[in-house]
Amino acid sequence: MVIVVQVMHTAAKAVSSTLEVVVVGSACRHHLSLQALLDRLQHVDLIPAIWPVLRDYVAVLQAIAFNFGTCDSDTTPVGTTTVGDPRPLFGSVTYSSDIYDCVQANVVALTYDDGPYIYTNQLLDTLDNFGFKATFFITGNNLGKGGIDTTAPYPALIKRMVAAGHQVASHTWSHYDLSTLTGTQRVQQMVKNERAIANIIDKYPTYMRPPYSSCTPASGCTTDMQALGYHRTFFDLDTQDYLNNDATLIRNSKNIVNWALGNASQGSDYLSIQHDIDFQSVTNLSSYYFELIRAKGWTGVTVGQCLGDPETNWYRIPGTGQAAPVSLSVASPSSSSTSVSSSTSFASAITSSSTITPSTATTSISTTTAPVATPSCDFVSRQFCGQYQQFYNRVGCNAAQQDCLAQWNTCLGVGTRTGCAEWKRDCYLLSMYCGRCGRSCSTKGFRASQE
Ligand SMILES: [Zn+2]
Repeated sequence: MVIVVQVMHTAAKAVSSTLEVVVVGSACRHHLSLQALLDRLQHVDLIPAIWPVLRDYVAVLQAIAFNFGTCDSDTTPVGTTTVGDPRPLFGSVTYSSDIYDCVQANVVALTYDDGPYIYTNQLLDTLDNFGFKATFFITGNNLGKGGIDTTAPYPALIKRMVAAGHQVASHTWSHYDLSTLTGTQRVQQMVKNERAIANIIDKYPTYMRPPYSSCTPASGCTTDMQALGYHRTFFDLDTQDYLNNDATLIRNSKNIVNWALGNASQGSDYLSIQHDIDFQSVTNLSSYYFELIRAKGWTGVTVGQCLGDPETNWYRIPGTGQAAPVSLSVASPSSSSTSVSSSTSFASAITSSSTITPSTATTSISTTTAPVATPSCDFVSRQFCGQYQQFYNRVGCNAAQQDCLAQWNTCLGVGTRTGCAEWKRDCYLLSMYCGRCGRSCSTKGFRASQE
């Protein structure tokens, strides 16, 4: 679902070893010394001793791909750049706070990240069959698929999305962790995608979702997104399809949505994340999920619809930056802003060639047994056993924080609402700890800081 990077290392523990860095599915393939690698990774506290586990850190490896050679990110769509466009803010939905919740009742905002891809057409068929709408957080050029505006069948797919009333939103040009980029790189990641999308539908989005759910205030990302006129869109239901892209494992995602819908009171809603680059999500989970939504009397909608934001506010006209009128107007009955002050990045959608260990908590929907607290749990809520991933430096701390939030999503399936909120607060504290920590920080140190 993301750029998967493999680092081949033969006897790589010596600094002089030559490494081969491969961005799977793209033209990126680089040979470099470990020292050269370390020299480029200036934004992280990285020491050679952690090299054996380095490949576990996708964000770090993305930085490698970003800094070497010709990668997806180096291509630029044709046409006048939108970088200088005026960016007036439309409507009443927040641009300053992270969005993770709908304001409309009895809806699921269905969102799909990382596409379009070879399964997207089938997903559009399934959505049509149910009469549901979705939001596609599109990446312009990643996974080696070529630019969306120049590579068939993507332009036709994106036109089909808009014609069918779905929402096209941005997931950046090539799926880097925005919090690790410079401001200039970050803007490029947004405006390249704008140009490519406008090359197809003559307008570009005002909604975005940061890859890995990473867009921190400290990095300048949140203010950059606001300056570019983007709503930062997250989610409150992670179906974990990317962790379960297997004919058997997808049952875990079905259990999550089954539990989530079964326990949602009428009048509530979800903002749900899936990935149309995952075969099992498209061909197996989607119809199961949509059937549950329909059976509950709810509807699958776009993010804009779920926020009560009229479709004209979803896009800008290149050049003028003004709101894009729609021929097929989908007026919403109300609009409101959400206020979420937390800047915490939510559970990320990370796939690595090795291990960012998913939560080990069960996603079983039968929760009749009492919780069993074991000494290894850092936090317990009913069947949820939260555990901080081991770390010994800032890189590991950031990974543990991402893992913590992934566990929060699992908690929503098996823990209590209050308990999960407590765990999420702990994840936020962990992120604060990571922000402060130097090379000496550790799981043990964080636990001590909580006492
Ligand atoms: Zn993504």
